[in-house]
Amino acid sequence: MTHQLPALPYSANALEPVISERTIHFHYGKHHQTYVNKLNDLIKGTEFEGATLEEIIKKAEGGIFNNGAQVWNHTFYWNCLQGGGQQEPQTPLMQAIEDKFGSFEKFKEEFANAAATQFGSGWAWLVKKQDGSLEIVKTPNAENPMRNGHTPLLTCDVWEHAYYLDYQNRRPDYVKEFWKIVDWEKVSHRF
Ligand code: MN
Repeated sequence: MTHQLPALPYSANALEPVISERTIHFHYGKHHQTYVNKLNDLIKGTEFEGATLEEIIKKAEGGIFNNGAQVWNHTFYWNCLQGGGQQEPQTPLMQAIEDKFGSFEKFKEEFANAAATQFGSGWAWLVKKQDGSLEIVKTPNAENPMRNGHTPLLTCDVWEHAYYLDYQNRRPDYVKEFWKIVDWEKVSHRF
């Protein structure tokens, strides 16, 4: 099986001014494509040659895991975003957020804090646990919460390549702007 770079669900300038077309050019066009290419090279002749990304995330280690998870994580990230204007979670996700975190504002604070305090490269996630409850988790490098049995609902890429061209070292500013482009319709549907 040859993995392909999935098409973006919007045009390259759709997320401006929060995420520039220039960032999309590098982040999607170069970084994401490179993970796809490296994965295809690494799986040749291994037990993962015919595996899905989900199987790779659950079972692989080393370079195959890192590149496979990064392919999945980036496709998921692009599908957490939209350029049509600010949205809010829909019922019943909004209710679950309010029950768990107290309010939508408090949830955003806790998520932003996880994103800001992930040391070095990684991801912040809102996940649904196996018991149906919500949790905010942060993961280093390519790590994915599906390894722990969680279902990802939303993610924010906090590798520097996600924000450096637009925000330089100001990761908290990127996360603050991130809320303007979250596709809560898709995230609510996942829940
Ligand atoms: Mn990235």
